[in-house]
Amino acid sequence: MRISRQASLKKFNTFNVSENADVIYEVEDIGMLKNIVSDNNQILILGGGSNILFTKSYNGAIINLRNKGIKVLEEDKESVLVDVCSGENWNDFVLWAIKNNYGGIENLSLIPGNVGAAPIQNIGAYGVELKDVFYSASGIMLDSLKDFELKTSECKFSYRNSIFKNELKDKVIITSIKLKLTKGNHNYNIEYKGLKEKLLKSELSLKKISDEVIKIRQSKLPDHKLIGNCGSFFKNPIINLSKLKTIKSDFPDLPSFKIDSNNYKIPAAWLIEKSGFKEKRNKNVGVYKNQPLVIINLGEATGKEILDFANEIKETINNNFNIQLKEEVLVI
Ligand SMILES: Cc1cc2nc3c(=O)[nH]c(=O)nc-3n(C[C@H](O)[C@H](O)[C@H](O)COP(=O)(O)OP(=O)(O)OC[C@H]3O[C@@H](n4cnc5c(N)ncnc54)[C@H](O)[C@@H]3O)c2cc1C
Repeated sequence: MRISRQASLKKFNTFNVSENADVIYEVEDIGMLKNIVSDNNQILILGGGSNILFTKSYNGAIINLRNKGIKVLEEDKESVLVDVCSGENWNDFVLWAIKNNYGGIENLSLIPGNVGAAPIQNIGAYGVELKDVFYSASGIMLDSLKDFELKTSECKFSYRNSIFKNELKDKVIITSIKLKLTKGNHNYNIEYKGLKEKLLKSELSLKKISDEVIKIRQSKLPDHKLIGNCGSFFKNPIINLSKLKTIKSDFPDLPSFKIDSNNYKIPAAWLIEKSGFKEKRNKNVGVYKNQPLVIINLGEATGKEILDFANEIKETINNNFNIQLKEEVLVI
């Protein structure tokens, strides 16, 4: 285990901001966790730092989980139950699954970050969400130091949301997750328009889908190693039918996706673009040219500068459309 005091968080967050933390524990052995938790009052669990914006120093202990391991627990003809440690890189795990011909997460290729964070916001992309293959999350409760295992139905998953962002926010360390993946008869999902156009149903394979997803992502999203960002800064808002009709009467080109008879998801990127933020820059912060939902650090931006820019977008959209955008990124 490595312990750094008054240490920079720059290499621990993909926005590349340089705030400090009182102490950072880089933990490979989860046997150490209960002692660390007992020794510190204020704790933040950190994976790859790809969904977090530090706007000030963190007065407390950061636990950066680095435990590794992938185990097949059970299998039959149709499926396999896999246990994956939180410190595994998510995309490395996806590639491992594809190599072993285990299906269900190929559409989630190239999402940055670690396995332990995947249930926090129920990661999703290209028509698939983690909940579709999820079995359980295991870990430690921060207050009682008791072990827990929560099954899918207990995790209250919804769009970019789960119990870990609500009732259990800042209350648990997830040390591993179990997923149920398909073994032979894969349920390929190419409903997303960009995938459907490129792939032929008759010749599908896990690898083909993953390769195509990676290609699309690389063409749309900045590489956080080169340009600091956290992917989508805001969630896509869900509005009711009457509000949809009101906006559509002024903007007939507004795209919308039906969720149920009264609720529709609309793209935050569209709202941002229509509000004049396409490729907009303000000193060290800007909107990414290929995807307006991605706010980028153009160099040495502080977390506060990034937050101010995000708030300006939020305010403008509220004024223009009477829609309150919600952050997908955790702001500290
Ligand atoms: C370029 C780019 C593209 C992206 N695309 C997508 C996408 O398509 N879909 C999507 O859903 N997300 C996307 N994201 C967001 C991000 O990759 C995911 O949310 C990812 O799961 C975050 O993982 P992380 O390890 O970096 O989490 P972190 O940023 O380290 O942490 C995120 C949150 O989870 C908590 N947490 C982390 N690990 C644990 C743990 N073990 N136990 C308890 N709490 C924990 C943290 O306290 C924090 O609240 C993208 C990000 C980037 C930079």
